[in-house]
Amino acid sequence: MPALPVAPDAPVRVRFCPSPTGNPHVGMVRTCLFNWAYARHTGGTFIFRIEDTDAARDSEESYEQLLEALRWLGFDWDEGPEVGGPHAPYRQSERMQIYADVAAKLEEAGFAYRCFCTPEELEERREAARAAGKTPGYDGHCRNLGDAERAAYAAEGRQAALRFGMPGHDFVWNDVVRGELRFEAEHVPDYVLVRANGEPLYTLVNPVDDALMGVTHVLRGEDLLSSTPRQIALHNALADIGVGHGLMPNFGHLPYVMGEGNRKLSKRDPESSLRMYRDSGYLPEGLANYLALLGWSFGEDREFFSKTEMAAVFDVARVNPNPARFDLAKCTAVNADWIRHLSATDLAERLIPYLQSEGVLAETVTPEQHALLLQAVPLVQERMEVLTQGVAMLSFLFVGDRFTLDADDAAAVLTADSQPVLARAHDALDALASWNTTDIEAALRETLISGLGLKPKVAFTAVRVAVTGRRVSPPLFESLELLGRDMSLARLDAARKMH
Ligand code: GLU
Ligand code: ZN
Repeated sequence: MPALPVAPDAPVRVRFCPSPTGNPHVGMVRTCLFNWAYARHTGGTFIFRIEDTDAARDSEESYEQLLEALRWLGFDWDEGPEVGGPHAPYRQSERMQIYADVAAKLEEAGFAYRCFCTPEELEERREAARAAGKTPGYDGHCRNLGDAERAAYAAEGRQAALRFGMPGHDFVWNDVVRGELRFEAEHVPDYVLVRANGEPLYTLVNPVDDALMGVTHVLRGEDLLSSTPRQIALHNALADIGVGHGLMPNFGHLPYVMGEGNRKLSKRDPESSLRMYRDSGYLPEGLANYLALLGWSFGEDREFFSKTEMAAVFDVARVNPNPARFDLAKCTAVNADWIRHLSATDLAERLIPYLQSEGVLAETVTPEQHALLLQAVPLVQERMEVLTQGVAMLSFLFVGDRFTLDADDAAAVLTADSQPVLARAHDALDALASWNTTDIEAALRETLISGLGLKPKVAFTAVRVAVTGRRVSPPLFESLELLGRDMSLARLDAARKMH
């Protein structure tokens, strides 16, 4: 069979095609990001396809989470669920008839054959091959069965799987990320396309849809490298039977992401879960920015950029094939950078849902609370790396009588020794004629530092914990001003009565 022409570099059609199993994870997002950026950079098409043919593992809940995750991260897609497109439907579970038809054609044209082997028989023969020191792949047992043998197996009540017959030559392709790659024929045995129960597998449906949807570039994780020679063989066969665009997609395999201890970041690692990032208050922009650095770099030492800025310069050929190290601290630092770059209004808006989910703010935010938040945000903007830290620092302003002290901080700071400090602070503030940062600071310095001869840290930490509930808070004098005279005095009073 003549080699299939490789899809031209333009127009680009790429796809992100996750299976909806479990929770969305960062590896997925990285793949999505690189595909999206390549499509946007080239003015091509970004296809979002759902690979949900495995009824036992896929779930509707996971599908919903995927859509929500992509929306949260600000991805748009040109074809796919909810937006439709010329190759709809984009959920593979709705394309079963297509796969059944293609499977039948592949069999009819002799590219695939019925395999009657039971799992036990296969395992037995694999074991034997291993023992004999041979490569333990499928041994071609059913490849050349005659009609009579097939009929006999069927008469025994055996259900047949559909197996693809590999052409028996080595496979070489020019990987967009890794350069020339070669797989030897003996390492790529015939493989199953359709299970004996009629269920089509990833091995069939993924390349079939890539062909039908005119995908020009398959950009995906390195873990799928071993499926590529099979898929190349299948694309050749599909072109032969007239299914799809008749072109060989370009393949590009994105590097592994390594976690702690230099092992592959696993879906089960906590820092893998997209939920963790949303729950702790990473910005979608910050997370996407960091994930872009896993295998790619902007150049010019630039590490702070938006998805759009990335897309403007992204070339998949510049992806680094070496494993990328996932560094949560770095990710957090990039996020902190993003937080610092937001306007106060924007940061306030982003904090609100977190303040609400902590029960600090109610569903309806009053204009007064809004105004207070806007004043408070600049005080903490430089002090937080993730939004939940902002929530922890700002809650004291909004909880009123529901105010509580952080138990550890209170135990460490609001000791019997702090009583005189709190009493003096209370009285000095009570005597103030006007309630503003400057006067508050002057009064506290005079009474605690000059008067009691305390070190500022000791003096102010007691006041800080009494009033904000925590040792980590916005700047103290501003905090007192924003909290207001009555509430500040009441909290100092409560704290000095603790012992
Ligand atoms: N559904 C496959 C996965 O999530 C897609 C792999 C591919 O991009 O070919 O692993
Ligand atoms: Zn067989």
